[in-house]
Parts: sequence; structure tokens; C-alpha cells
Amino acid sequence: MEQAQSGRVPTNTFVAWFGQRYTIGVLAGATLAVVIPPTLMQIDWSSSFYRSLTLLVVASPCALIISTPAAVLSALGRAARRGVLFKGGSHLITLGKIRAIAFDKTGTLTEGKATVTDIDPIDGANVSEILSLAAAVEAGSTHPLAQAVVDAAHRRNLSLPAVKDSTTHAGLGVSGVAQDGSSGPSRRILVGSRRLFAERQIDVPNRADEILKGFEEQGKTAVLVGTDRVLGVIAIADPPRRTAKAALRDLRQIGARSIGILTGDNQRVAQAMARQLGIDDVQAGLLPEEKADAVAALRRAHGTVAVVGDGINDAPALATASVGIAMGGAKNDVVLETADVVLMSDDLSCLPYAVRLAKRTNRTIVENLTFALVVIALLLVGTFLGRIPLPVGVIGHEGSTLLVVLNSLRLLWYK
Ligand code: ADP
Ligand code: MG
Repeated sequence: MEQAQSGRVPTNTFVAWFGQRYTIGVLAGATLAVVIPPTLMQIDWSSSFYRSLTLLVVASPCALIISTPAAVLSALGRAARRGVLFKGGSHLITLGKIRAIAFDKTGTLTEGKATVTDIDPIDGANVSEILSLAAAVEAGSTHPLAQAVVDAAHRRNLSLPAVKDSTTHAGLGVSGVAQDGSSGPSRRILVGSRRLFAERQIDVPNRADEILKGFEEQGKTAVLVGTDRVLGVIAIADPPRRTAKAALRDLRQIGARSIGILTGDNQRVAQAMARQLGIDDVQAGLLPEEKADAVAALRRAHGTVAVVGDGINDAPALATASVGIAMGGAKNDVVLETADVVLMSDDLSCLPYAVRLAKRTNRTIVENLTFALVVIALLLVGTFLGRIPLPVGVIGHEGSTLLVVLNSLRLLWYK
């Protein structure tokens, strides 16, 4: 996003600068075309005037000016019909140049339809109590893991205690104050990663650590539930999206040099997912700011980098990327607001399509600019040599504009 934004200003400034100089040049050329031939070459004033009129027509850069907007608008329309919403043409152009792409794990590479598979109590805590406390706190969160915990409590028909002060700790978990009964004692409940408990200086017993490790080795995301001590571990299975593997393969085929995972989840779980999807670059256990730092490092290494994410914890990374891409299913407005591109249908296979379309658009722009410049150059030379009558000049000028537009419109049907 940064690059796109800072890139827009110089481009516009250059176009304005070039437009001004070009117009002054053409007017000066036309004036000279009226004045010089009669004085130096004994050509009569009327044919000299006629030639300068032809020059004004053939030199106007309509085809040149329409080259980029026509291609970009056609591509934006095509992308929107496939459910890929670009928030501006510059993002499309940048997407066509990406070298590296980093994915968030939970909710992006995974379906986001996670399910609770196991609940292991610690030190004799009660399974139903663990789940109902966790679900009560998670009810206020939009995280895919939260949905899984709430669904599991509903399936077991558990009644949830009232919770106050629900707080989301991005990339770590959630907390809230639960009240037992109307006049019972209130307790602060934490649901989240090992790191969340470490930050609160709550001791994680060896037994809980072993259980966590066991689940993580199975590729499950395991979260701790606790008060001032750990009550239990909830294991959540969150399988990869069906389209993920093919989408990553396609991205590699169309030239993404580096594809990686940036996740707040544990290294073991992230590695298990990476093995399934054939990804080798995995950075796990990252807080939101650490994800952004990882993206900045990727940009230093590769130049143009896209980041795909779905959660509030991805917002800083999306903002740091050259192009930030949000999953349309993202339930958080900040993510949709921060992203430059939104995959409305939540379908990862749209991503390689969007990159191919963006590359095609960039090629179309180069074709258009080259064609427009060559036609203008030929018509100018012909006019100076007196070989281009005004009607031919008009046909050449309008015809080239039309051809540039038609070439751009082909993007509307890009497969
Ligand atoms: P990702 O980067 O893969 O999308 P997150 O950064 O959202 O993952 O979450 C990182 C870790 O923080 C999770 O694996 C989990 O341990 C914990 N976590 C985050 N949000 C929640 C939540 N709502 N409930 C429980 N745990 C959570
Ligand atoms: Mg996520």
C-alpha cells in the first residue's frame, strides 16, 4: 500500500509535467510549420498553414493518454465480475509486479470453519465449565477460533455465564470477566496462546505444555483456558481451504519467487500446514507488529510483496505490503478498510487469476503506449515531409485511439 500511495503522486506529477511540455511543443511545432516553410523553402502560406493544421491533429496524444486508463478500467471491471475488488488502478498495476506473497494462516489459508476436537482439563477442572467459560468470553470475538468454541458450547447445550469487559488481544487471544450466577464471584477468564498466559505471568504447568505439544504435532491449534491458573486446553482443527494448494501452485507457476506463511499460531501447527501445502518459508508465533516487520523484511529482499490476510492482527502487515489483500469473509471492518484488494468470494483460486489479469493489463498498457507512440511518430514524420493529407492525419489519429481502446477492451473477456 505504501508504495502504491507514494507511487501515485510522482506518476501524476510526471503525466502533468509531460502533458504541459508536450502541448507547448506541439503548438510551437505547428507555429514553426506555418512560418518556416514559406520563408526557407518557398512553399506558399496556404499549404504551409494546411500542413500545420495536419500537424496539430496528428500530434495530439489521444491514443497515448487513453492507453493506461482504458486498460486499467477494463481489467478492474473484469476482476470485479470474478469477485476481486480493487480499490484503485494503481493496486492492479502493482499486483502485476509482485515477486513475493505472504499468507496469514488462520482464516486465510484455512477455511475458517474450525471445529473443537478435544477438551483436556488440567488438575481436575470440569470439561463443561472450561468450554462454557471459554465460549462466554469468545462470544464477543470475530476470530475463526472463537466461532469454533462458541459452536461447540451450543452443540452441548451449555448455558454461558454473563461476561463483562470482553477484550481482544490481537494475535494472542481474548479475555473477559465472567460472573457466576447473579450474585456469585466474578473471575477474569483468559482464552488464548501460551504467549498470552506468559504475558499475564500465569504459570503454564508442564502437563498443559505436554498436551499443547501433542495437539500441535497433530497440526491442531491448541488454546489454553484459564483464570489465575490454567484450567484446560481446547484443541481446534482448522483444515486448509480446498483451493489453497492449487492456488499456491498456480502462483508459483506465474512467477511468485517466494511464498510464505506469517502466523500468530505455533511453529509446529504452521509447519504442519506448510508441509500439506508445499510452502517452505514459515514464520510463526508473530504478533501483529511482528508480522508487519516480517513484511518489511520481505520487501527489502524481494521488492514488491503482496500479503493476504483476514484478521485484525493482519492489518499492520496489510498496510506495510506493496498490495494488501483481504479475504472477503473477513468479519473485521479494519481489515477490509486497510486492504487494497478484497477477494469478495473468499476463494483463493481468484488470487492467481487476479495476478495473471494484472500482468496481462501491464502488458496491454505497454502494447498501447508503444503502438500510440509509433503511430504519432510516423504521422509526424509524414506530415513534416508533406506526405500526409489532413484526412489521412485524422484517420490515423482517430484510428490509433480506437485501436488502443479496442485492445484494452479485450481485457473485459480475459479468461
Ligand atoms: P493467524 O495469524 O494464523 O491468523 P492469529 O494471529 O489470529 O493467527 O492467532 C494466533 C494465536 O493466538 C492463535 O493460534 C491462538 O492461539 C491465539 N488466538 C488468537 N485469537 C484467539 C481467540 N479469539 N481465541 C483463542 N485463541 C486466540
Ligand atoms: Mg487470520
